[in-house]
Amino acid sequence: MDSQVARSITIVGGGTAGWMCAAALGHFLGENTRITLVESDAIGTIGVGEATIPQIRMFNQALGIDETDFIRATGATFKLGIEFAGWLRPGHSYLHAFGDVGRDIGLGAFRHFWSRAHRLGLARPLGDYSVNDLAARAGKMHDGAPVTNRNVPQMPHAFHFDAGLYAAYLRRYAQAKGVIREEGLIVAVDRDGASGDVTAVRLDDGRVIDGELFIDCSGLRALLIGDTLGVGFDDWSHLLPANRAVAVPCASAAPLTPYTRSTAHAVGWQWRIPLQHRTGNGRVYCDAFLSDDEATAGLLANLDGAPLADPRVIRFTTGCRQQAWSHNVIAMGLASGFLEPLESTSIHLIQSMIARIMTFGPTCRPAAAVRDTFNRQFADEMARIRDFIVLHYWANERKEPFWQACRNLPLPASLAEKIALFQSAGHLFRDQSDLFSEVGWLQVLVGQGIIPATSHALAEAVSEADLAGWLDTLHALFSREVAAYPTHADYIARHCAAP
Ligand code: FAD
Repeated sequence: MDSQVARSITIVGGGTAGWMCAAALGHFLGENTRITLVESDAIGTIGVGEATIPQIRMFNQALGIDETDFIRATGATFKLGIEFAGWLRPGHSYLHAFGDVGRDIGLGAFRHFWSRAHRLGLARPLGDYSVNDLAARAGKMHDGAPVTNRNVPQMPHAFHFDAGLYAAYLRRYAQAKGVIREEGLIVAVDRDGASGDVTAVRLDDGRVIDGELFIDCSGLRALLIGDTLGVGFDDWSHLLPANRAVAVPCASAAPLTPYTRSTAHAVGWQWRIPLQHRTGNGRVYCDAFLSDDEATAGLLANLDGAPLADPRVIRFTTGCRQQAWSHNVIAMGLASGFLEPLESTSIHLIQSMIARIMTFGPTCRPAAAVRDTFNRQFADEMARIRDFIVLHYWANERKEPFWQACRNLPLPASLAEKIALFQSAGHLFRDQSDLFSEVGWLQVLVGQGIIPATSHALAEAVSEADLAGWLDTLHALFSREVAAYPTHADYIARHCAAP
């Protein structure tokens, strides 16, 4: 093992970020590194963050976690995508579904053929050519081989899970790998006089926990990266003005839908995340347009079932730490930045940060170029996700003052270019740092009402009759396949119901 790999790592915080990090480091670094996690029961965790994207499956696989065991233990359900209801205008809805849309027939991307057919009035909605979209809307789930036709694509999926149960699951896993847990309130942080590195954290009962490398998973408090090291925060409120959320769980109501729902309201939006044993709900809003009381009343008036707890208001500032890695501290999770949960990206950002730590060390004495590259990769990843979220707000046709203000927000240059390229002729290019695929961007661009003015020459050359016939065949093929799947509720009951 590299001699620079830290011999002792202290993780500050035991929320989703802290325990995901502890589980991964415990698994990959094993006995060579002492790993300690400090968390405070008195402070607790943020307790939201229950919708994921398909990459979470790779995290589980890398750790050797059995998917069925994980689903049962966390009350999880399957997620095939996100429905955006009312985001373009009231009454309109589309899905950002995982997986492919249409079929590649070796003559250029499907979007060119679809957009031409759309302009000619021959196409169904884009989602009608996605297996995941069709299955989500039909409440179906199936993760095995295609049933009716082997040419039908597989269904990539993610999960909705109970954040508390997930942290507890990972805690058991990490402790079994030798991670030491210390419960207590950190009241002071020691630093080396010469280097400024953090040397230890002090708990309220006098315990001192040292480490060569510290991972700051202290949540929105950003105890080490912010309070101790004073690393600046790039505030993106001028691009994404929402700064509050109010969350409440409620009793489940049938059917058990295999997707996250995001419903736009006069101000902001509401999430609905169905779990096996309850449904998670919350409103994201901007306090300049809506008071906490109004947001709470609006949330409670739009639940599937009886609330199971008191609503809780959470304040946040959208933005990102100027450096995720400073001195011998790496920030992860909410301590590193915040992007609202519109595309369920925060848990993925934790996973991505863990992967980056493993790629670069984990060392406490990096060369300047290593730390700079690490920080640039993080900043680029955050900025691309920010652009994707801004797109949902900016491209709207709603009449309320909040949405009109969103239409007038300044677009980041990177996003303005992306939209212009797509609008002109359906061009979509994926940057290396972009989490979302071309198909992901396509669904949201089209869903938010942006249609290319022209298609490429091959798509323009196909006869109208051939184009219409091909699209009809594709839709019929995918629909027949989805009709053969069990319902999401049946699938869970048969394979992975929580005890
Ligand atoms: P926390 O859960 O806040 O954990 C912080 C930890 O630090 C706790 O253990 C706390 O005890 C400890 N701590 C803090 N100070 C001290 C101290 N002085 N001494 C000792 N310990 C201390 N992400 C998604 O991917 N999907 C979603 O659907 C989603 N929805 C969200 C909805 C909302 C409203 C919000 C705000 C976030 C959402 N997120 C979502 C983000 C997600 O919740 C977080 O990324 C995830 O929970 C990680 O949080 P964390 O571990 O960084 O912080």
